[in-house]
Amino acid sequence: MTDSMKKVKQILSSATVDIYFDASFNLLTKLVDKKNAVIVTDENIFSKHRSKFKNWNVIILKPGEQFKIQLTADAIIEQLIEFQADRSTILIGVGGGVVTDLTGYVASIYMRGIQCGFVPTTLLAMVDASIGGKNGVDVGAYKNLVGSIRQPAFLLYDYSMLNTLSDMEWSNGFAEIIKHACIFDARLFELLRKNSLAKIKKDKKLLASIVEKNVALKIAVVKKDEFEKGDRKLLNFGHTLGHALETQYDLTHGQAVALGMVFAAWLSEKLLGLQKSSEMIQVLSQYKLPTIASFDAERVFNILVMDKKRVNNTMNFILLNKIGKGVVHPLKLNQLQKFILTYTELHK
Ligand code: ADP
Ligand code: ZN
Repeated sequence: MTDSMKKVKQILSSATVDIYFDASFNLLTKLVDKKNAVIVTDENIFSKHRSKFKNWNVIILKPGEQFKIQLTADAIIEQLIEFQADRSTILIGVGGGVVTDLTGYVASIYMRGIQCGFVPTTLLAMVDASIGGKNGVDVGAYKNLVGSIRQPAFLLYDYSMLNTLSDMEWSNGFAEIIKHACIFDARLFELLRKNSLAKIKKDKKLLASIVEKNVALKIAVVKKDEFEKGDRKLLNFGHTLGHALETQYDLTHGQAVALGMVFAAWLSEKLLGLQKSSEMIQVLSQYKLPTIASFDAERVFNILVMDKKRVNNTMNFILLNKIGKGVVHPLKLNQLQKFILTYTELHK
């Protein structure tokens, strides 16, 4: 346990989530009974942090979004049966968003639901994926089509896990952090603008404060709107087009979301008179994220219409009134199709 560690209790859908910031992985031994716990992780994390997993029951997955599918959930369930896991077993997801999504999903269905906890090991999982209780698997081209909402019993943040993270994964996490800043927090946006990826990676205190700020932002929204009727929709900023691009092209989630945010900012200029979208583009490139996309409008639109945010022929698109203020803007599908066509023409 580190001196600066702090514990925060949050109540989400009447479940208490204990959050341990700046904690050490070994705190797990105090939180759960090793014999009654099963860790789910992936090959990369296991091989880079092997000693941490000693004497734990571990299920090791193949890494990557392509394995975030029902087949993997079934394989986890089979191993749980081999471990003779019962209703009192706690499942602990140690990994990025793929691992925590699969862990939460399996925990919500195994024996009609067992407890779970998360140790997010990517920046993205720390600030986004592991918070809010949404879990699930992809089905074909459709991301997170099947899943549930289930809150973990705890979240443990060991920032030293990030020492082994690749540059690309750091950028991925910053895509969500920049997203949070754009929709909720102009001050956070300024902080990001004045800093850089390299600087934040080196400054552990700054990193910790940015992570904690983003966790607080996301929790505040989820608390207010656990079932995505209002403000939580704003978290989809950049994600409607982003998800469609991600499934059709060789892009990471963060890269796809960055491109989605650039498109949404362009649309915000057109529809809401957003100014300074160039600042957002500048910040994205400061955090090594792409800002220019050329893509097949028709192909991407056909995927986009399957988005869960669509209601009949209207899509609730997230736009910006200004930096720090996101809004839900209903767009008719044919309108959206035209905008996407115009945008792709501009970027040929
Ligand atoms: P996400 O980016 O949604 O959090 P993943 O779970 O797919 O998604 O993780 C991204 C990649 O980073 C995977 O290849 C995973 O194995 C790897 N990874 C996760 N955490 C770490 C870590 N702490 N150090 C090194 N690699 C990691
Ligand atoms: Zn995202």
